[in-house]
Amino acid sequence: MREPHGARQRGRLGRAARRLAAVVVVACFIAAPGPAAALQAAGAVVEPPALLLPVQGKLASELSDTFADTRDARQRGHEAIDILAPRGTPVLAVDDGRIVKLFLSKPGGITLYHFDPTGQFAYYYAHLDRYADGVAEGQTVRRGAVIGYVGATGNASADAPHLHFAIFRLGPEKQWWKGEPINPFGYLGGRKP
Ligand SMILES: [Zn+2]
Repeated sequence: MREPHGARQRGRLGRAARRLAAVVVVACFIAAPGPAAALQAAGAVVEPPALLLPVQGKLASELSDTFADTRDARQRGHEAIDILAPRGTPVLAVDDGRIVKLFLSKPGGITLYHFDPTGQFAYYYAHLDRYADGVAEGQTVRRGAVIGYVGATGNASADAPHLHFAIFRLGPEKQWWKGEPINPFGYLGGRKP
């Protein structure tokens, strides 16, 4: 049976539109990894993005830079930031990404490791009172999601609950326990006085 001319015309237009849409989708897909991935491919050192402050209700102006402090009678560097807050204050994901490890350690207590969406950085949250309901390893997470609550587990002093937050630049093996520490202060909006 012969198609009426109008239907054929519409069909041709429809096909052209679908082809155009396919080209646009492919172009978006190619563009999606963004400048960070391109820079990394070129061998450049990529900086972490600006992050959300991980303790609900805290302001960047209230942060103090404790990255270079020493711990255990100068045996080791702190290499993190401590954010004081009442026990039970919600702890928020600083970026999108994936929860890779829920880990109980002697110094860190209840801890959580989160990889950024590009897998270049690990975000570490320690001394948690507990995890948020439903938090699990392998789960994708959105910036701002509640992942746990401030506490004093591990070697934190019971009368000074706080979030110990660290950033690590991951190596090619992408091991959650291994990376180069980066000072979070500036990435959380902290400014030197
Ligand atoms: Zn700390």
